[in-house]
This record gives sequence, C-alpha cells and structure tokens, in this order.
Amino acid sequence: MAQKYKKITIPITKPYLDGKEEKLVARVLRSGWLTQGPKVIEFEKKVNEYTRTKYAVAVTSCTTALFLALKASEIKEGDDVIVPSFSFIATANSVAHTGATPVFADIDRRTYNISPLSIQEVIKSGYKFDNTKKALVNNTTNNRLRAIMPVHQVGLPADMAAIAVIARKYKLLVVEDAACAIGSEYKGKRVGAHSPLVCFSFHPRKIITTAEGGVITTDSKEYAEKITALRQHYMTVSDLARHKTGSIIFESYPEIGYNFRMSDVQAAIGIAQMDKLDMVLMKRAAIANAYNKAFVGHPYLDVPYVPAGYKHNYQSYLLKVKNESPVRREEIMTRLAGAGIATRRGIMAIHQEPAYASAKTIINLSVTEECALSTMTIPLYPQMNKAEVNSVISEIKKCFNRKKHSDG
Ligand SMILES: *Cc1c(COP(=O)(O)O)cnc(C)c1O
Repeated sequence: MAQKYKKITIPITKPYLDGKEEKLVARVLRSGWLTQGPKVIEFEKKVNEYTRTKYAVAVTSCTTALFLALKASEIKEGDDVIVPSFSFIATANSVAHTGATPVFADIDRRTYNISPLSIQEVIKSGYKFDNTKKALVNNTTNNRLRAIMPVHQVGLPADMAAIAVIARKYKLLVVEDAACAIGSEYKGKRVGAHSPLVCFSFHPRKIITTAEGGVITTDSKEYAEKITALRQHYMTVSDLARHKTGSIIFESYPEIGYNFRMSDVQAAIGIAQMDKLDMVLMKRAAIANAYNKAFVGHPYLDVPYVPAGYKHNYQSYLLKVKNESPVRREEIMTRLAGAGIATRRGIMAIHQEPAYASAKTIINLSVTEECALSTMTIPLYPQMNKAEVNSVISEIKKCFNRKKHSDG
C-alpha cells in the first residue's frame, strides 16, 4: 500500500546559485557564441588554478571525462581496471564503455574508500605476471591488468599514497574518479594534483555545478592534447581557432573522436560557481560539524571518519546504522520522510546491480555489501539554516527514543 508522506520540506541537496550565474549565462546567450568557446577556456583556467594543475579539459560529464582519460591511456578490450564496487555505477560504466572490464575491489570499513589491502588481494588472487606480455594477466580471462580507478567517495580522498605504491610496483596507471572531490585535500594538496589523470563532476548533486559537466585535470601536455582532440572528433583545429583567424583553414581528422563538448552556457555557470567554491565548502563544513557533534558517540550510528592529513568536502554526509541498532536504516528513512526530510540510501554496491550481474568478482566484497545496506545520506546544502539542521538531528534522534519506549 502506498504510504502517505508529508511534502518534503528539507531536500537532500540544492545547488547554490544566485544572480551571478544568471548574469553570466545571459551574456553568453547574447554573445552569439553558445558552444565550447571562450567561456569554456575561462572555466578550465579556474579549475587549473584551483587544483594547481597545468591543464584542465572540460567535457560533458564526469562519466565522459573518465572514459576519455581511459581512452587517452589506450585502455581497451582485453584490459582490466580495478574499481571499488561501493560507488555510483558511472565509475564502472566508464570502464565498460572502453571495452575493458571493471574488476571490483572492496572498501575500508571506516573511510568507505577502496582498500589498498583489497587491491593487493585482487591482484594476488586473480593475476600472475606474464613474461612475454610483461604484464599482470588474469588467470581465467587472460586480460591484462592496466589501471586502478580509486574513488574519493562522497568527497573523502582515497589513500593515494598506498595506491601509488601498488601502482608503481605493478606498473599500473591511476585514474582518479574525483566526481565528488573538488576542494578536498590529501596530505596538504588539493585533489587533482596527485595523479596524471583526475576527473571531476559538475552535476548539480556535487559541490558546485555546471548543470551537467566534467573536467579532467592533468600535468601532462600529451594527455591534455590527446583528450582535447578526443572530445571534439579528433579535429586538428578548434571551432574557436577557425573563427578567430581571418584566413581560411582546413582541419583534418587523424583519428576517430567523440563529441563531448561542454557548452559556453554551462561554462558560464561554472565560472560563477568556481568563485563560490570556498564559501560553499565552508558552509558545508559547518553543517557537517553540527552533525558530527550531534551524532558522535551515538550507540547506534557511525559518523564519517576523517583520517589525519585528509580534508573532507562533505559532498554528502553519510551516516552508518550499526549492525546492533534496534532501528533499521529503512525505518529511519521512512520516519524522516514522514517528517518532510529527504534521505537517500548511502552508496550502491555496483556488483549487485543487474547490469553487472555477469561481471566476475575475484574476491569477497563483504564490507561493500554491509555498507550498502547500512549507510544513508542526510540533507546537506549551503542554504540550510540552523533550524533545518536541528530538525534533521532531532528527528533522527527521535527514531531511537520511540523505539526504546515501544520496546520497554
Ligand atoms: C556523480 C558521480 C559520477 C558521475 O558524474 P557525472 O558528471 O554525472 O557523469 C561518477 N562517479 C562518482 C563516484 C559519482 O559520484
């Protein structure tokens, strides 16, 4: 039977926009230049400066960013890429689109990020070194292991130092799924500056938005040029360059590329959003701190764990309902919905989705499976006021009080 819910008054998230985005978008609309042009270049420069990287290439989404990062590294059918199963499905999809196979690793119970120990376990149980191919080759499929794709889940950086050690040892590439992680820091450096290929999302569900969009950051000129070509049909001259020269130039197409262009309309939103990034991060941290204070030490809830030397941007606030809790996650979510407060299940386990039902998982993914059942995200957005934050806190706490009374 359909249950009646109160209208949702506190949503899970809201993009933070004001007149600045509207003004910049209106200017683009009036300029007559709508697609990838000067605003995309300006937006890319802002992302570069912020992440302290040499190059940034804007594309249509983080999914296409990850796909192009893998393509630029010539990852293809017959290759394996290690990804965490505990992630949004786009992580694995970006690998599958190249023809390569995503191979699932488990996560660390406290950080929810890919566990370096689990990566080692995947390699030890599934691969052996092939002397002729000079690569780790899968015992059953004969695929070559080529890369690791760590995810900075809900904005907490993965253990990049430990992952780098494994990558060096086995000559694997690291492509970071930093969809949620703009503004996060790891060992004193912002995410973006730790690997040759880092991909960000600007979907409205993330920290800042371009409506839809993604960016690849890199310090490698070669990667930047290759990805820039791939995003626009491998065309040797950009539309803008053709437009700017007074003379006639003919472009050529040395390889098959794609159309993954970001438009100047989207980039204009992104420019205004980049200017708000630090303020948005501060507001998010304040709300996350209020949640931490309210729930730390709770007998049945775990608050997000942030190791020393890491900066979390709290793209989402994950609460874990402990196994011994008398109230199940679904019950809390239902009661909050009844109070007009939106929640979402935490993160999915990709290997349990029908789309990946035939994917071979080499190792047991028990932590992923446990966390997929017991985590949930609660509302967090910069515009949330104190009363709304307090209402979320008290409604969650109430779930446990009521239980005590009805049991006692
Ligand atoms: C949102 C998200 C993506 C996909 O980003 P899009 O820009 O929507 O393609 C990929 N990976 C993770 C971990 C995400 O959270």
